[in-house]
Amino acid sequence: MRRLLVVNALIFAVLAAAVALAYYSYSYSSGVTSKERELQLMRDLAEEKVLNIESWFVQESDTALFREVQLDDLSKLKELADASQMRSVFVLDDQMKLVAGGYVTRRNPKEGNEFRDWFTSKVLEHLALKAQKLNQRGHVYGANGWNGKPFVFSFIRRQAGDRTFYIVIEDDLDRLVGWLFPQFFSSSERSKRLYEVVNERGEHIYGTQFLETSGELVVAWPFVDTVDGWVLRVAERDLEFQDQLAKRRVLDSVLIGGAVLVILASLGFLAIAIRRERRANELKSDFISNVSHELKTPLSIISMFGEMLANGRTKNTEQATEYAEIIWRESVRLGRLIDNVLDFAKIERGMGVYEFDDADVGEVVTRAIELVGRRLAAAEMTINAELEPDLPPIRLDANAFTLAVMNLIDNAIKYATEGKKIEVRLKRDGARILLTVRDWGPGIHPEEQEQIFERFYRARAVRLKPIRGSGIGLALVQHIARAHGGDVSVDSASGQGATFQIWLPI
Ligand code: ADP
Repeated sequence: MRRLLVVNALIFAVLAAAVALAYYSYSYSSGVTSKERELQLMRDLAEEKVLNIESWFVQESDTALFREVQLDDLSKLKELADASQMRSVFVLDDQMKLVAGGYVTRRNPKEGNEFRDWFTSKVLEHLALKAQKLNQRGHVYGANGWNGKPFVFSFIRRQAGDRTFYIVIEDDLDRLVGWLFPQFFSSSERSKRLYEVVNERGEHIYGTQFLETSGELVVAWPFVDTVDGWVLRVAERDLEFQDQLAKRRVLDSVLIGGAVLVILASLGFLAIAIRRERRANELKSDFISNVSHELKTPLSIISMFGEMLANGRTKNTEQATEYAEIIWRESVRLGRLIDNVLDFAKIERGMGVYEFDDADVGEVVTRAIELVGRRLAAAEMTINAELEPDLPPIRLDANAFTLAVMNLIDNAIKYATEGKKIEVRLKRDGARILLTVRDWGPGIHPEEQEQIFERFYRARAVRLKPIRGSGIGLALVQHIARAHGGDVSVDSASGQGATFQIWLPI
């Protein structure tokens, strides 16, 4: 009954674990696809933003100015530069020399001059002006320019008549960051995404600062037409919950691990249970044939000798007495066997079979020895009993304990006849009473010393011998000992006899 309950509980646990695993794998795979979709969306968004910003920046400022500048009439240069909000504009001839009136700047005159000198001496040679295709915009970005600040120079090669000239613009990055970026990147609380612009060293330039490691849902898109080293990064706003996410992941892995463990453990347990059950079934059928045999043999002996007595086929009274004794002995054996089987069946069904009372254990053992007296004599064996006197009374089911002691002595008679003697000792050992039954028979193989206490188990050595048995005697002894709060054990080496010991608590 209890085993069935355990098996049902295990099956339920395995099912629950399997459902949990299925749920996790489903939510994982749908999570992965939705995450991929989300990432693609963010990538598209980043690309579009960068594209828009750069084309706006280039169109509105650089291109307009490039178009308007006339080499013959530089008087409007200042006006043009202011209109498109340039920091500085240089107009150079084909010899890379500033043409007259070809430099305007929004810096104050002193700084303006310094900047011009810095430009002509440090920057100009690095601009690949001559290689520039006609009427096409080129640009160069530097992280560390005038006063250590980043810069972008846009330039173009143009032609007026047969004269080539160059226009170089210093773009206004403060305007890019301070005016253009805010138009494109909403920092509203409601916006689902966070934006950050970082430079080539990963340093924060604009937007909401977030950590590289803060999540998987971060995409980056580089600027290519203006501030070359800069990168736009886009992240999910709920990045702040990333650590919660990480915590959930830990929980998930614990749960998944637990589910797998439950399944493995349950399967292992079920496999063991099935094996045990199969073995018990095998043993049970052995038991049935053993018991039938055990019942049949004494019955046929009884009926044979009974018939002889009834027919008066006896030579003298001694023989008649001998026959009657045989009948008596066999019927006692039969009775004992039936007792054993019935008690065992009761125990198997888990019924309350014990009636405890304070009893003198010495008396109980003495009675058990008396009861086996005749069988002992028939086997030509002797018992040497050493029972310590004045043992304290203990809580005992006298009938059950008698049965246990008789089973042990019976086994010694059955299996250790050649040893000729049996030793029974009863003594106190601290808070315990120890009963030992020792014989000088063949002993029990070490490998089987545990198994002989299992129900229906009979040692290999005796299975082939004509010694009758059902394999439940020792199981019964163990059950009785444990019901008394004690236990039974065996100590034996092959060929050296066996010593069974029952201990009971006082
Ligand atoms: P049964 O005697 O009916 O076979 P038991 O449960 O009493 O069943 O004993 C189980 C097995 O233990 C026996 O079949 C026998 O092989 C072994 N056994 C028990 N007592 C002894 C003993 N005194 N000496 C050797 N073997 C023993």
